[in-house]
Amino acid sequence: MADACDHDPADGPLDPVDVLDRIVYLLDRRLEEGRRVRAYANARDLVAELDPDELRTRHRERTLTELPGIGPATSAVIAEALDGKAPKKLTELEATNPIDVGEGAELRAALRGDCHLHSNWSDGGAPIEKMAEAARALGHEYMVLTDHSPRLTIAHGLDPDRLRKQLDVIDELNGRWDDFRILTGIEVDILADGTLDQDEDLLDRLDVVVASVHSKLSMDAKEMTRRMVMAVASPHVDILGHCTGQKVPGHQRPIGKSDFAGRVGSSFDAEVVFAACARFDTAVEINCRPERQDPPDHLLELALEWGCKLSIDTDAHAPGQLEWQPFGCDKAARHGVAPEQVVNTWAADQLVEWASAHPT
Ligand SMILES: [Zn+2]
Ligand SMILES: [Zn+2]
Repeated sequence: MADACDHDPADGPLDPVDVLDRIVYLLDRRLEEGRRVRAYANARDLVAELDPDELRTRHRERTLTELPGIGPATSAVIAEALDGKAPKKLTELEATNPIDVGEGAELRAALRGDCHLHSNWSDGGAPIEKMAEAARALGHEYMVLTDHSPRLTIAHGLDPDRLRKQLDVIDELNGRWDDFRILTGIEVDILADGTLDQDEDLLDRLDVVVASVHSKLSMDAKEMTRRMVMAVASPHVDILGHCTGQKVPGHQRPIGKSDFAGRVGSSFDAEVVFAACARFDTAVEINCRPERQDPPDHLLELALEWGCKLSIDTDAHAPGQLEWQPFGCDKAARHGVAPEQVVNTWAADQLVEWASAHPT
């Protein structure tokens, strides 16, 4: 779809569904506000359902905007596509906020997968297969699907039954590719007392477990340290997700263009937490989300001093966000991280074997 920008009208119309889908991808990539993305996603879904003849008639009679949810912006895109012209909105988005990699190029090239991402089973915006196709298109050999755990109700966390169902769905989807695999996983909530928000037997079944703090971020540092160490020491936990929970000012949405005030991360004894990560062979995540950029530099340096393994993950909630790994790779490269210490530079089998063999 990227070459739609050079489309020659003489070659006939563009498929409005493909064009709208690409616009959704690019809006997500630049972390556009949800309601704006939804306008294009809704238009895409509506057009996909519509009889093509009716669409062409409406375009000719200029009644596209009479369709529910089609406004001036989305109807302009549909009209341009049907006329075989590169839609202005698409051309503009392709040209803005491309995710370029700098000093982390070597690391990015070494990454074979992404260990932290969400589907619409929890709070992501796309079905599992769409996330998988996007990850595969980026050259990944695998992705670990890590939807949220039950107590994160705001994010539609998966209870044990839904997670079991998801495992069956993944099993079926994996029959589709011989060059790509969806690994099973979870982003399990680290509860205030340090326990994990999912059944032990289920955690045991999953290929890779990311554990993160999402609630009571401002609790006392001593308590927070104990809470995180308990999780890190669990034989089920493989990766410590966004360790501070910080949100960087001005980076909410779209990228770099807001006055978002940010959020101070939680306080904990990082020496103790990273020592535990090293001791229990739990990787520290470099979270690539532009508004997270977690851990901050001084903590990444400390994790490296302790010899912790790392995982460079997007925490993508939409296909376009899977492109964010360069942010984390550049940061890791600035700290002299070697590809071998990043667990998602490993092949899927090696990753799964490591994840199932933690010291206790
Ligand atoms: Zn999280
Ligand atoms: Zn997440």
